[in-house]
Amino acid sequence: MLEPDYNRIRLLEPEHSFRTWMVDPEDVSFIHLQIFNEHLLCASYCYQCQSQVPPRSGHCSACRVCILRRDHHCRLLGRCVGFRNYRPFLCLLLHAAGVLLHVSVLLGPALSALLRAHAPLHIAALLLLPWLMLLTGRVSLAQFALAFVTDTCVAGALLCGAGLLFHGMLLLRGQTTWEWARGQHSYDLGPCHNLQAALGPRWVLVWLWPFLASPLPGDGITFQTAADVGLTAS
Ligand SMILES: [Zn+2]
Ligand SMILES: [Zn+2]
Repeated sequence: MLEPDYNRIRLLEPEHSFRTWMVDPEDVSFIHLQIFNEHLLCASYCYQCQSQVPPRSGHCSACRVCILRRDHHCRLLGRCVGFRNYRPFLCLLLHAAGVLLHVSVLLGPALSALLRAHAPLHIAALLLLPWLMLLTGRVSLAQFALAFVTDTCVAGALLCGAGLLFHGMLLLRGQTTWEWARGQHSYDLGPCHNLQAALGPRWVLVWLWPFLASPLPGDGITFQTAADVGLTAS
């Protein structure tokens, strides 16, 4: 049986305001949200879906659907990062940065041998413009491959490392990328609670394996705010 994509939201009766969202057990591909005739505080309205949506959710024009606790649309993965897949996304960044850094270090001896054999200008051109050096016949295929793989690994490690630092900051602040861009801190419950909210109670161990049993405390539809726990400045 297909696993439900809990990041996706579809409203059953978009014309009504409502108080409680419920999962439709008949549909495994979407969460269907049942609507009740009561007003929900903090609900926002999605003009594309023409319906009220839970707080922190956001519409993705690429996925053409609202996403629970939407963080951003990842173009490399081709899908949105939201409430349910934020933890695997963070682990992917960590593991990818680690693997790429490791490969870069392993390539170090071969690269240093190349450095010793050629002038610095030649090496700089090889690392910066490997395709041009290959096409003009200035390097062998093996030297090109070494430079290309090194470039890819170093650039990938830097990209993943920067992403990990950025999302680590958001994680500790309890923000999504969208909330960070808007300067919103409504859901910052303190670093420890924020970590548990995004990674579950076993937040230390899930970095090793993101699919470890560590259930997220919320349902992606309602969230505790700093005001709820008295953390806002009076
Ligand atoms: Zn929408
Ligand atoms: Zn998307």
